[in-house]
Amino acid sequence: MKKIQIVRDTVLNQQYAINELYRYNLEEKKTYHIVTFGCQMNEHDSEKMSGLLELCGFEKIDNEEEADVVLFNTCAVRENAELKIYGNIGRIKKIKEKRDVVLGLCGCMMQQKHIIQKIKKSYPYVDIIFGTHNYHELPMYINDVLFKNKKIINLVEDSKALIEDLPVKRKLGVKAYVNIMQGCNNFCTFCIVPHTRGREKSRNYTDVVNEIQELVAEGIKEVTLLGQNVNSYSGGITFAELLEEINKIEGLKRIRFMTSHPKDISDEVINMFGKLDKLCEYLHLPVQSGSDRILKIMNRRYTAENYLEKINKLRNVCPHITFSTDLIIGFPGETEEDVDKTIDLIKKVQYDSAFTFIYSKRVGTPAAKFEDNISEETKHIHFEKMLGELNKIVIEKNSKRVGNIYEVLVESVSKKMIGQGRSRENHLISFEANEYVKAGDIINIKITRARKFSLEGEII
Ligand code: SAM
Ligand code: SF4
Repeated sequence: MKKIQIVRDTVLNQQYAINELYRYNLEEKKTYHIVTFGCQMNEHDSEKMSGLLELCGFEKIDNEEEADVVLFNTCAVRENAELKIYGNIGRIKKIKEKRDVVLGLCGCMMQQKHIIQKIKKSYPYVDIIFGTHNYHELPMYINDVLFKNKKIINLVEDSKALIEDLPVKRKLGVKAYVNIMQGCNNFCTFCIVPHTRGREKSRNYTDVVNEIQELVAEGIKEVTLLGQNVNSYSGGITFAELLEEINKIEGLKRIRFMTSHPKDISDEVINMFGKLDKLCEYLHLPVQSGSDRILKIMNRRYTAENYLEKINKLRNVCPHITFSTDLIIGFPGETEEDVDKTIDLIKKVQYDSAFTFIYSKRVGTPAAKFEDNISEETKHIHFEKMLGELNKIVIEKNSKRVGNIYEVLVESVSKKMIGQGRSRENHLISFEANEYVKAGDIINIKITRARKFSLEGEII
């Protein structure tokens, strides 16, 4: 069996747990089901947990009602993601009443003490609770529940080291997420992430490059480098140098990354968009607000003008680059005048897409204590106004794309021969395929029809 490398003090217990579970699953294969909430970081953590569970002999199953191990990888960024979890836990209780199921909760929500107290009190049938720093110990926890009848609550507030060499079971066939760093040092006043994911830690660049080389050998064509703020990468070389190294990997076709904090994207990184052939002409650059007053109290440390300067520099080095962003409406004290400034910035940038959020108060963040004299109703009116303007731009830009030709990396071809993939500029494009087209191919597609938020085309 494959040996895995984990921090020294747990390695023996871990390997023991993996072996025990593997033997247990030899008799009759047990199954697992992971439900993931939140960002790409969480999705990738779930891929790592899947890899570990499969190393222990568990088999992935889509139907949670039949699974022997059910895990919820939670998100704490906004309240509605949190509320969904409670409904999900309640659903598993009914299954647990009929048969044995190991129920585990992990991820960002579980890094918060008040949440753990609530779960202990209101959902005592949860077997395993752990956070974002110890998912590599999952086999040990399951082992303890199954064979020692224990309940596990393991809150590690921050980790000193990053764990390398875990097996990963990835979801997508032609593209993959690659973590280059964990945590965040920025402390935007609205955000819980630095409190749940700890301080920034970068992976060594050789580990990152090796992982991508292995992925390419397995058929991966596109990688998205992940970090809360990739610009502050410090794994032995700068982020721009890391991009250069990855660009040299033979067989790799495309590189993307997220997320970039606007205050930190350097000229060196900006210039890479004009220099590296594999770096796609697309950037996710979260602005949050177009009002300098709000940006200041968000602790974002840039102004709308600084942000627009970066956008202009990027357009100068890479004229076809497209942008997406994150926007928060309803930050404490945000007035209609502030919202209009955000709309003004949206119009200036001409985004191709955006993730739009209504501010959600997070216990433990500075903004949770800010005075807020704006009603929920007003915030919703502001949100709709902003969304209306944003959608107008996105739809209009899409409609002008009919007749354009894009290079598409094919991600799937359905039984009905409908192909789907993304352009280098990140447009979602579907097209009528033929028997020669398969996932992983890179083909040129001419756009024949623009839908609101996607495009249709034909092979040329
Ligand atoms: N590190 C990334 C950055 O700085 O752009 C963002 C990570 S965060 C998980 C993703 C997005 O969630 C943020 O850009 C922000 O728009 C949104 N977000 C974070 N906290 C929020 C809150 N309390 N309420 C509403 N949206 C929030
Ligand atoms: Fe949160 Fe700001 Fe860090 Fe992004 S940069 S994760 S928004 S604190």
